[in-house]
Amino acid sequence: MGTQSDIKLIEENGLRLDGRNPGDLRPIKIEAGVLNRADGSALIEWGGNKVLVSVYGPREAYPKHNQDINKAIVKARYNMAAFSVDERKRPGPDRRSIEISKVLSEALESAIMVEQFPRAQIDVFIEVLQADAGTRIAGLTAAAVAIADAGIPMRDFVTGCTAGKVNDKVVLDLSKEEDNFGQADLPIAILPKSKKIVLLQMDGDLSLEEFDTATSMIINAISRINEIQRNALSAKVKVDDAGGE
Ligand code: UDP
Repeated sequence: MGTQSDIKLIEENGLRLDGRNPGDLRPIKIEAGVLNRADGSALIEWGGNKVLVSVYGPREAYPKHNQDINKAIVKARYNMAAFSVDERKRPGPDRRSIEISKVLSEALESAIMVEQFPRAQIDVFIEVLQADAGTRIAGLTAAAVAIADAGIPMRDFVTGCTAGKVNDKVVLDLSKEEDNFGQADLPIAILPKSKKIVLLQMDGDLSLEEFDTATSMIINAISRINEIQRNALSAKVKVDDAGGE
């Protein structure tokens, strides 16, 4: 998040540099069941982001002292490939990826019926292949599809979107330039049926009014994104029914 608000990110005609209106999403495509060896998987392309998610489990948690006798542990690991960003990313976990892994694990846990699997572990590997702002939300949105693809019982989906502020205007789904040089970035994820917020982070400043506008834009977009998630799963079921892998 930059501090400069003088970089021009919105044209005189009100459009953003990539031609979007303030409330427009970037194109989103999700494919479920893209990997044969994982229990569940999904590939999401969201604007320039490409994120691959694979899910394993529920299986017995190891080491045993990590087991919870009341529920399954959900372990999401968010990782950026070295080639996913402009400047080569040093491989391995860093502070940012550890923090993102933690918040994504917690968000996913609230959607999964973890109490049905005591002593078990569910691993969710979120691999960012190409990053273009909004990767944590793209990864989380794909992870929900991959978990459903693994047949793990869920009480709801998890669906997310980002809004923010650029050139003093609230806009939906920040692009890379808007994320870098904008004034605020607000990723939110909710359980779409119960409308419960399961992730909310904020970088930068928003007034209460701007926050309201941003959250309404996000809630509105989330119903569209959730439809894309559900379509990805039904397309996979159709392929399975037709005898595909
Ligand atoms: N980014 C990068 N190198 C890094 C981390 C992030 O180039 O080590 C870029 C990447 O495009 C990412 C964007 O900065 O999508 C915004 O990062 P942020 O931490 O806001 O997370 P995100 O928006 O991806 O969830």
